[in-house]
Amino acid sequence: MEESKKCAVCGKSAAFYSTYLKQNLCKKHFERMLIRRVRSNMASNNIRGYSFRIGNENKCGEAFLEFLFKEYTKGKTLTLKSNTLEDFSIAVMRFFMFQDESKFKISEKGSFNPLFNVSEQEIVSFFSLKNKKVTLKKRSEKEKAVLDFLSKLEERRPGGMISIVKAGVALEII
Ligand SMILES: [Zn+2]
Repeated sequence: MEESKKCAVCGKSAAFYSTYLKQNLCKKHFERMLIRRVRSNMASNNIRGYSFRIGNENKCGEAFLEFLFKEYTKGKTLTLKSNTLEDFSIAVMRFFMFQDESKFKISEKGSFNPLFNVSEQEIVSFFSLKNKKVTLKKRSEKEKAVLDFLSKLEERRPGGMISIVKAGVALEII
């Protein structure tokens, strides 16, 4: 019998492998690390004291943001856009492959995209552990072709999509 994988944090049976952290994680710690990643994205961009409006750019991301920010704080309104790691890595690849300018950035005046390093696969897993289904974003043929290429890259080199997004940030593409 194959030995079951253990959570890197608590040693309990793992439910998910995080390509981001390169660790096996149980349900509790998978959820925690995903929520912590979004909060840390916001903290490192000094996003606090706002009330949030949630954007509908990506159905899957939107569901996750609505789950996380059910209770809005009072203050000036900031739009939290729902583009995910897939959206941003597609945007960077399209720039490299076709010289297509990205239509969105991680941080813009009046809006922030806290899911730029959170994948739709992680969001789907997050909700499936709660027995909830989320809708994946509908994509154009061009986007599907680029995402297919990126998924194959991710299979060969876990974390590849994150690296592409980091390169896109450094080059100010996104
Ligand atoms: Zn654990």
